[in-house]
Amino acid sequence: MKYDYLIVGSGLYGAVFAHEAKKAGKSVLVIDKRPNIAGNVYTEEIEGINVHKYGAHIFHTNNKEVWDYVTKFAEFNRFTNSPVANYKGELYSLPFNMYTFNKMWGVVTPEEAAAKIEEQRKEITGEPKNLEEQAISLVGRDIYEKLIKGYTEKQWGRDCKELPAFIIKRLPVRLTFDNNYFNALYQGIPIGGYIQMVANMLDGIEIRLGVDYFDNKAEFDAMAEKVVYTGPIDAYFNFSLGTLEYRSVRFENEILDQPNFQGNAAVNYTDRETPWTRIIEHKWFEFGKDKNGSDLPKTVISREYSSEWKPGDDPYYPVNDERNGVLYAEYKKLAEKEKNIIFGGRLGEYKYYDMDAVIAAALTKAKEELQ
Ligand code: FAD
Ligand code: UDP
Repeated sequence: MKYDYLIVGSGLYGAVFAHEAKKAGKSVLVIDKRPNIAGNVYTEEIEGINVHKYGAHIFHTNNKEVWDYVTKFAEFNRFTNSPVANYKGELYSLPFNMYTFNKMWGVVTPEEAAAKIEEQRKEITGEPKNLEEQAISLVGRDIYEKLIKGYTEKQWGRDCKELPAFIIKRLPVRLTFDNNYFNALYQGIPIGGYIQMVANMLDGIEIRLGVDYFDNKAEFDAMAEKVVYTGPIDAYFNFSLGTLEYRSVRFENEILDQPNFQGNAAVNYTDRETPWTRIIEHKWFEFGKDKNGSDLPKTVISREYSSEWKPGDDPYYPVNDERNGVLYAEYKKLAEKEKNIIFGGRLGEYKYYDMDAVIAAALTKAKEELQ
């Protein structure tokens, strides 16, 4: 055996585990089928702008251990996410806060806003059973219709009545003029891009890119004592129990010869008709400046389109509804029977993990494994 660990996937889970294993004196090989490291957090510099190639990523956490960990690999800027919702040309502040309520209803005080929500949530009695009921019960029907329904159905390709309630609970609802999208003590974007942060985690570790584990699985397995697998769990078992559902995302990137396209990093198109879910203007993650602090004359935007995953696409979001939950539990049973393999990360565990949760999970697993 040449290596102690073969790590399949150089995303955050794989990179953190690899770093910890190397630190513990283990020999490690990381492989990834993509031509680049960093998985979905990969960034690439275009026109002096760090472009988030697989979707906008804003780091946020309440976990001090995770924050102390990531800041060893990168310095973070003070970016605070405050997306704008565009509903047929009407602009609203997100997440749901006093600016949103004022624009929607003309209410001025928190008391008036609370009364409006209270009046509209009456239609939901009992515990909300799905995303639609949960959304109406949180912010009322008007906001549900204009800012949630269309966006959610585009993003998930499913009716809001068929989606789990927890998805909408990710968003804060506030009776203050605070439009920070996250309730997190720590937030920011790594200066130099996520790519640099992950490269620092993988410093000194052997990496092979453009290599699919399944093209030579037996050979790879023979190279290491143990495998850490961060790809889709159903793919590992050759979809033998059926396919888990994922949402995929496609990005249309454009370089524009103008300094400012939309004045904000993220604008969500919350109507049903606009085919994209959101437009990201990457330079605003770094306040429109290049690495020397100069203003950038051009801008790069990405239109994000959501679609159902099919073989050959990149899986992005696990669809954590009931059917998939049951099927995942069956795959997990198979996984537990496998020897010398750890399944980790968003795809390996089929969980709607944010970056901080993936890092925390990898650190916990590494501690357990490497003690
Ligand atoms: P991944 O990054 O998916 O890494 C898995 C890697 O395994 C990939 O590089 C893949 O190529 C490789 N792989 C898979 N199969 C094989 C194989 N057979 N052989 C070789 N390699 C293989 N989180 C936040 O905290 N904030 C955000 O703002 C945020 N925004 C997001 C926006 C989008 C559009 C998406 C999709 C996710 C977002 N997330 C965000 C979540 C974040 O991307 C994940 O939590 C994190 O990147 C997961 O890391 P991972 O290592 O589990 O998976
Ligand atoms: N959402 C919405 N309107 C918006 C933004 C989000 O209805 O303008 C809903 C949508 O269902 C989404 C969920 O809120 O899936 C969680 O949003 P978040 O931004 O956390 O999703 P992410 O893209 O980060 O996974």
